[in-house]
Amino acid sequence: MKITFGIPRTVWRFERVDRQHRLAHHIGQRDDGCCHIGRKLILVRANRPPKKDLENVIHEALHAAVWIMSEEWVANTARDITRLLWRDGWRKE
Ligand SMILES: [Zn+2]
Repeated sequence: MKITFGIPRTVWRFERVDRQHRLAHHIGQRDDGCCHIGRKLILVRANRPPKKDLENVIHEALHAAVWIMSEEWVANTARDITRLLWRDGWRKE
């Protein structure tokens, strides 16, 4: 899917990828996703448990939207937002 993030507004491509996906090599062995700033590409591993999937999407979206922030800030913020949304009852349909 195409999605717009940040200031200035920029169009990104978002895809969930399993290990056989043609773009899977972009994701590190130990990672659940990646955000290519130059390619405007967000990849998230498919088939993760729902709460982890939510955190992964938020994590990579944060990288895209505020790419200057550190990995630590992104990881902590994604975890916090996920916890808030999960406690508030948000689930994938
Ligand atoms: Zn990250």
